[in-house]
Amino acid sequence: MSKMFHSKAKGFAIDFAKKCIVVTGGNRGIGLAFTRAVAQAGANVAVIYRSSSDAEDVAAKVAKEFNVKVKAFKCDVSDTDVVNETISAIEDQMGPVTGLVANAGISVPKPAFDLTHEDFTRVYDVNVFGVFNVARAVAKLWVDRKHQGGSIVITSSMSSQIINQQGINQPLRQVFYNSSKAAVSNLTKGLASEWAQYGIRVNALSPGYVNTDQTSGMDKSIRDYQAKALPLGRFAEPHEMTGQALLLLSDHASYMTGGEYFVDGGQLVW
Ligand code: NDP
Repeated sequence: MSKMFHSKAKGFAIDFAKKCIVVTGGNRGIGLAFTRAVAQAGANVAVIYRSSSDAEDVAAKVAKEFNVKVKAFKCDVSDTDVVNETISAIEDQMGPVTGLVANAGISVPKPAFDLTHEDFTRVYDVNVFGVFNVARAVAKLWVDRKHQGGSIVITSSMSSQIINQQGINQPLRQVFYNSSKAAVSNLTKGLASEWAQYGIRVNALSPGYVNTDQTSGMDKSIRDYQAKALPLGRFAEPHEMTGQALLLLSDHASYMTGGEYFVDGGQLVW
């Protein structure tokens, strides 16, 4: 199988041979789609996960399918010491890291009146501080070794911009999740601005609704309401997020930094 990712447009190919890309939350859902896409383009992949017992098997399967090195590393992205140790272990075992997809994220859906400070900390520790933590650890390596052209892609969400509804005047109850995604979209711009001087690009990819474990628990009537309201009339599959991520990671995006790119089936035009 070719190690290049070919788009349907003639003459546009992405070749990640000799690259090593870290994907947080890369063992399932949208993150697994990113892992598979960069592996298909020829990169070795370090998959960071929190606790899933099958993460090593998932990594081994992708490695076999695309004939590249893919290894799973257990690491809580919100723990700075563990993140620094993990990034160092990745470099020891896989070689110099050249790209990062900071994708791990969680949601605690509850009505606002029921939310606690602990819920706030859980969500923001992963969705904002966790992203920052891993991005900083990788960027520090690049600055130390004067690596030029490093690219960081952060998974935010279209909910950084809008509050989704489950019916007329019935918002989905996710105020901490939504506000954490607005924060991480802004953090993307701040890091892009600070690190441009080192040749590091930082961009956010903001999905709309995607069929993963995060959305599987939605009530069917809410899911149908949401899907019908979308211009494309359906939720996305995880692999439909990968084209934009591959572009942002690649040198084709050498003049793109600080952006937030929506892959949302047209939801924001609604
Ligand atoms: P899933 O719930 O399917 O997967 C979450 C992933 O994040 C898992 O791999 C999980 O690891 C990992 N993870 C969670 N917490 C931590 C942590 N503390 N440290 C390390 N890894 C962690 O999520 P999705 O694939 O649906 O979402 C991926 C990203 O996309 C998230 O940032 C999400 O907010 C965003 N997004 C999702 C949308 C959707 O509709 N699905 C829409 C818009 C944005 P483990 O398996 O070990 O638990």
